[in-house]
Amino acid sequence: MAFAQWHEVFSQGKSIMLVQSDYHIHASFYRIRQEGEELGPTVAEQQRSARAQGSRYVGIVEHCNKDPRHPFHCLEELSAEYHSASFDRTDTWLGVEADLQDDGSDDCGAEGRAKLRLHYVIGSVHLDENHPATVEGYVDMEFRRIRNALLHNLNIDIIGHPFGSGNFYARTGVIPQWHFGLVPREYLQEIVHLAVERRVALEMNRCLTEDPAYIRFWEDIRDAGALFEIGSDAHKTGATFVIQTRTEFAQHLGLQEDRHWKPSMRDNRGGRP
Ligand SMILES: [Zn+2]
Ligand SMILES: [Zn+2]
Repeated sequence: MAFAQWHEVFSQGKSIMLVQSDYHIHASFYRIRQEGEELGPTVAEQQRSARAQGSRYVGIVEHCNKDPRHPFHCLEELSAEYHSASFDRTDTWLGVEADLQDDGSDDCGAEGRAKLRLHYVIGSVHLDENHPATVEGYVDMEFRRIRNALLHNLNIDIIGHPFGSGNFYARTGVIPQWHFGLVPREYLQEIVHLAVERRVALEMNRCLTEDPAYIRFWEDIRDAGALFEIGSDAHKTGATFVIQTRTEFAQHLGLQEDRHWKPSMRDNRGGRP
């Protein structure tokens, strides 16, 4: 390619293409459904969906938490499909999205991880019926859980959708609008710092292109050299399409492929299991 063309590509922020990968795809076939409720996709269906969207590396998960819709035996069945002889596991990995608790522990644990033969665990904060009444209470809770997970929980490979539940407070009318400016900057900076130190990836699960504090958070991730992961968080077949715009957004922000998380990175965590 001639220099002028390279320059044009470079100036559009597209000099080094990110490899489109999606590690947060729910095989939501494996959950307890109400009578008449539509069944979700299997592992094979979600793998096909991700491939159809052009993702190179694919990670299939389902929730691991205390919700009665997600008993452990559902995850065992999911794992059995993934590990079955007929399933093509090329560039396809198995994980769970486990809820983080106040002390940083997760609802899967090392034992659950071994039993399910997982490649990775995404640790996420989800709101339940005991959710904090105020958005400040929520922000403090999410920060505490992520910080403690980064400090103390070696089972976690990825922090899922940091502060991604704040929108709940806008939806329920507690605040007019959710935005990352509601999270103290020092919280976000500490998360980035600990993620670098502990070699845990931070997940891009949204494209908040109009939110300057969110963009600054991702610029901090880029500048600190933190690992990152991009997830569609698709619960239905076909919902994986959002990975394309998220990858473009990450590309536009200048995130580099060598910081783009892969399951093999767990082996280089310097003393970490
Ligand atoms: Zn989640
Ligand atoms: Zn999810």
